Amino acid sequence: MKVALVGAGLSGIKAASLLADLGHEVTIFEKSRGLGGRLANRREAWGELDIGAQYFTARDPGFQQQVKLWLKACAVKIWEFLPYRVEQGALIPSPDETVRYIGSPLMNQLVYCLVSNFAVNFQCKISKVAKSGDGWRLFSADGELFSGFDWLLVSSPAEQSRTLLDSCSDVMAPVPEVVHQPCWAVGLATRGKIPGDVQGIFGDETVRWASRLSSRPGFIKAPEVDDVWMLHFSPEWSEQQGKETTMDIGQAGLNWLQTLMAAKLEKSAEYQHYWRYANMKPLTFDKPYLVDEQQRLAVIGAWCAGGRVEGAWLSAQRCIQDLTD
Ligand code: NAD
Repeated sequence: MKVALVGAGLSGIKAASLLADLGHEVTIFEKSRGLGGRLANRREAWGELDIGAQYFTARDPGFQQQVKLWLKACAVKIWEFLPYRVEQGALIPSPDETVRYIGSPLMNQLVYCLVSNFAVNFQCKISKVAKSGDGWRLFSADGELFSGFDWLLVSSPAEQSRTLLDSCSDVMAPVPEVVHQPCWAVGLATRGKIPGDVQGIFGDETVRWASRLSSRPGFIKAPEVDDVWMLHFSPEWSEQQGKETTMDIGQAGLNWLQTLMAAKLEKSAEYQHYWRYANMKPLTFDKPYLVDEQQRLAVIGAWCAGGRVEGAWLSAQRCIQDLTD
C-alpha cells in the first residue's frame, strides 16, 4: 500500500518504520528541515542543546523493551541525578526512584534509530488534503500536489491535525479545540560557581523545569563557560508572554537561576525557542490514536497518549499494530 504520513516526529517516524518494515511504500511530509519534532536540538559553538524533551521515562513494558535495545546500541544513556524542586522560593533535594533516560548524543537519536526504507520530503508543509477517486491527495503550501495514496496518517499536534482534516473527516471530533499550551525554552551558557549536584530542577510557576545540560553524560561544552542550561518556562508564563513578547526571556531565565541559587552568574550566550505546541492538557481517549477506517485515515501523536516521549512511541505502535492485524 502507498501511505502518506504528515510529520516526522517520533510518532511519525515510528509509524513509518513499522509500515516500511511490513513492505508498505511510505512517503513522509515534514515542514521543517530535520527529523525529530519535539526531540529537536540546536548546535551552538558553546554546546549542542536539546531544546525540546530533556529526558524521558519508560513505564510501558513494550517501551521498556525498546529502551533496553536502545541502551544496548548506545543510542540511549541513563541520566542519573538527584532531582531538586522549588518550594516557596527555596531549592530543596527531591530524591525519587525514577529512571530517566536521554538520547545519545542527543535526544533525536531515538528517531534516527528508527530510520528505515521510507522517503522524507523536508521543508514541505502540507496545507490541504482531499480524498478523490485515486486516493488521498496532499497539497503543499508551495503549490505542489502529491497524489495516489491509499492511506493517510497525520502525526502533527492536535490543533494542526484538526485544521488539516476537518474538511474531509470527523475523526478529530472527540478532541477538544485546544489541547496544547506553549513553552518558552531558553538555553544559557553561564559563568559562575554553583553547587555541582544541582543538575535537574522541577521548578515553579515561572520556570517549570531546568536542566543543567553540562552535567549530562557525554555533553561537551566550550571550555570558556562553566555551565550550559536549558530552562523551560511554565505553560502559563509562556502563554502570558506569547511569542512576540518584548521581554528579555534570556535575562528572565538568568535572573530565575541566580535568585534560586543565591549566586552571581554571568550569561555568556543564549538561545531561545518558542514552542507553540509543547505541554498538553490530559485527554480521555480509550485508544492512543484516532482512526476513520472508511476514509482510510489515522491520527497519531504523543498528545493522544499522555504527551510524553513514551506516548509518541506507543501511539504509533498501537495504531500500526491494530491497522495491520
Ligand atoms: P518525570 O516522571 O520525571 O516527571 C513528571 C513530572 O512529575 C515532573 O514534571 C514533575 O512535575 C514531577 N516530578 C517527578 N519527579 C519529581 C521529583 N523527584 N520531585 C518533584 N517533582 C517531580 O517524567 P515524565 O513524566 O516522563 O515526563 C518527562 C518530561 O516530559 C517532564 O519534563 C514532563 O514535564 C514532560 N511531560 C510533558 C507532557 C506534555 O504535555 N507535553 C506530558 C507529560 C510529561
